[in-house]
Amino acid sequence: MDLLSVPSSPSLAGNVLFLARQRFCNWRSPERLHLDAIFATDGILYKNLRRGRGCFSKTTEASSSFSNGTGESPYILVNTKPSDARIIYAVAPAMGHNQEAHPESHFRVPAIVQALDKLELTPKFRGSKVIELQNFRPASVDDITSVHTQSYVSGLEKAMDQASKDGLIFIEGSGPTYATVETFQESLIAAGAGIALIDSVVAESKNSRDPPTGFALIRPPGHHAIPKGPMGFCVFGNIAIAARYAQRAHGLKRVFIIDFDVHHGNGTNDAFYEDPDIFFLSTHQDGSYPGTGKFDEIGRGDGEGTTLNLPLPGGSGDTAMRTVFDEVIVPCAQRFKPDIILVSAGYDAHALDPLASLQFTTGTYYMLASSIQQLAKDICGGRCVFFLEGGYNLDSLSYSVADSFRAFLKEPSLAPTFDNPAMLYEEPSMKVKQAIQRVKHLHSL
Ligand SMILES: [Zn+2]
Repeated sequence: MDLLSVPSSPSLAGNVLFLARQRFCNWRSPERLHLDAIFATDGILYKNLRRGRGCFSKTTEASSSFSNGTGESPYILVNTKPSDARIIYAVAPAMGHNQEAHPESHFRVPAIVQALDKLELTPKFRGSKVIELQNFRPASVDDITSVHTQSYVSGLEKAMDQASKDGLIFIEGSGPTYATVETFQESLIAAGAGIALIDSVVAESKNSRDPPTGFALIRPPGHHAIPKGPMGFCVFGNIAIAARYAQRAHGLKRVFIIDFDVHHGNGTNDAFYEDPDIFFLSTHQDGSYPGTGKFDEIGRGDGEGTTLNLPLPGGSGDTAMRTVFDEVIVPCAQRFKPDIILVSAGYDAHALDPLASLQFTTGTYYMLASSIQQLAKDICGGRCVFFLEGGYNLDSLSYSVADSFRAFLKEPSLAPTFDNPAMLYEEPSMKVKQAIQRVKHLHSL
């Protein structure tokens, strides 16, 4: 199917919006209304100046709407007192974007939310220390086209017409990426969650030297989506869109992106390959999908040196990643001096994940969360937002995210409860050492 040959249908677009919202609202339990109340009484008010509020927004009426292209934030955050929040997260489960038996399923985000609830890490249990941001709006087309081509975005919107007839479509030339009638709108919601978290974390950082860490629990994931189209289960490059937004709306010129998903974040890599102000650092399994992310892909032109790719040999695990963090990520970030750190947090490098063969554990993810939070505090005012990417074993995904929340709260890891050492085998330490030496040499670290 040619994306661009599908005729547009304004009335359908309205239906899609309605369906997406209805599905999202239905997924929510009634007790979440209570969380809204907690949030509103904590001295923080969000005023949404745009239309399209639905169940994402509070009741504040807007007198005007405007484009993000003006450089202004669509939200005004009024924080009347310093907050003691440690985590701000947003949930966008994309319940309508689903293909039966597909690993990137609509069970993923609800599984995480359920684990957070079970381990008492939600606002219901933590009061103002953990904030769930509910009143965010979908990203605008302007936000999306800061990374993607106009023809891709309008083509995907028109393709929803086809999806409404066929139920499920596959978007040509994009690798294994499916779409349903709700994909376009739910992808805008996922990107919107990331943008809203940027606004919130930046606002909090003006009041505190140790602001809360943001976490976008969203799907579809984004780091494979290339400027011209979707790819590898990813529709819009959520983290790349947020990086551009942080620059444009908040004047945060230098952005450091860490991508520890087991796959190379080729979409983010490509979006900023010639950009000296956005550093993209990816660790991934050597030889895994999509095959890019070789050592010598270091950026081009003005951006030469601000892309770092570290393919790790299969079997690399906790020891490898701790070394990579200390010897590669920290010196790289310190030298770059970013204004904000964004993280493509993929949980498919876990030993139990079905799609790859690295050996991260829940403890590895706890270490990464804790260390990256501290790094952000040390070098960029604590401004840091995580974006969910991969992770396809629902247990290892949900408990690893939950343990990351415990790291942000500075509480001890529960990894020994979740991780069975019997699932692990010896890491290829010589190959890991060689890979680290090679990347350090290439980047003069
Ligand atoms: Zn992945």
